[in-house]
Amino acid sequence: MGVAGYLFGGGLGLTARTDGWTADHVRSIELVDAAGAVRTVDATDPERFARLRGAGPADGEIVTEVTIGLLPAGPLTGGGLVRVLGPADEPASDPGALHAWLDWTRDLPADVTSGLAVVPYPDLPFLPADLRGRRVLRIAVVVCGDGARADALLAPLRAAVAADEDTIGPLQPSELGRVHAEPEVPHAYLGDNLLLSDVEGAGLDAVAARTGPMVVTGIRHLGGAAGRAAVVPDSVPGRDASYLVGALAPFESGSGPEVVGAELARSEVDGVLAGFARHTVGRHPSFRFGPTASGADGSVSG
Ligand SMILES: Cc1cc2nc3c(=O)[nH]c(=O)nc-3n(C[C@H](O)[C@H](O)[C@H](O)COP(=O)(O)OP(=O)(O)OC[C@H]3O[C@@H](n4cnc5c(N)ncnc54)[C@H](O)[C@@H]3O)c2cc1C
Repeated sequence: MGVAGYLFGGGLGLTARTDGWTADHVRSIELVDAAGAVRTVDATDPERFARLRGAGPADGEIVTEVTIGLLPAGPLTGGGLVRVLGPADEPASDPGALHAWLDWTRDLPADVTSGLAVVPYPDLPFLPADLRGRRVLRIAVVVCGDGARADALLAPLRAAVAADEDTIGPLQPSELGRVHAEPEVPHAYLGDNLLLSDVEGAGLDAVAARTGPMVVTGIRHLGGAAGRAAVVPDSVPGRDASYLVGALAPFESGSGPEVVGAELARSEVDGVLAGFARHTVGRHPSFRFGPTASGADGSVSG
């Protein structure tokens, strides 16, 4: 992922509820415009500066430099709570841990940013034995505070989730990658998202019970500083949302009974998102991936 493309959509970082969107900290942007002129855009050009931070460059504009304000490096605590929900090809009998995360987020202070992901791992020999063929819940948490503060905030969540693995501990900014523990191997994914004012409990139940082609479902808790207007106005979508739900499906070209093509992947992604559609307030363009993104008008049925 490139810094420029990430910033154009706002940039939802691991401490977003504490520090806001990354674009909120951009001081100036240098670009070459369609006529070949080099411009430095900042708060003195409010319309263009707002458009670049949220909607991105216009046709023909190429960003060559970005100046970003730094944040104080206070203590950070974070990592993941991992719970195996059961075999990936059977509905999970107990979605309680997903609901526990949602309930826990309702009254959290802004120094906690978290999200959950449900990953139904295929039964493939190169995967670790404890993940292979399992449906796994991962709750990723970053607390902008020390271990004692994090332990106090996390106590009810830890008690309710009964994690099989708990990696939450002191975190250096350079180690933030271990919070989501995403794969480092590239793969073709198709994905989409909904910005939500609230999370539908039935949507969580459906994610826990869903079988079929692999779809990774992730929900991020927004609000806090990510819900406040930027000091210098921008065009970042999602400040009015409390959660962002995303669904990602791997797909490949070819044919055969095992192949999940783009069309099937798209319908599986749409099916997962439909379970959350009731509280939709929009979509975030940064989290739409793949060749057949539909519903450009933001429509989702369900
Ligand atoms: C695995 C994964 C995890 C992600 N996690 C997050 C996350 O945690 N938070 C978040 O906010 N987003 C996240 N994203 C979304 C990400 O921010 C967007 O996909 C973003 O568009 C990536 O930018 P890129 O430059 O890498 O991609 P590209 O597709 O290369 O670029 C995006 C667009 O910007 C244009 N562009 C890129 N650089 C320039 C430039 N210098 N000048 C002009 N135009 C340019 C490209 O032409 C393209 O239209 C994630 C994406 C993936 C795939």
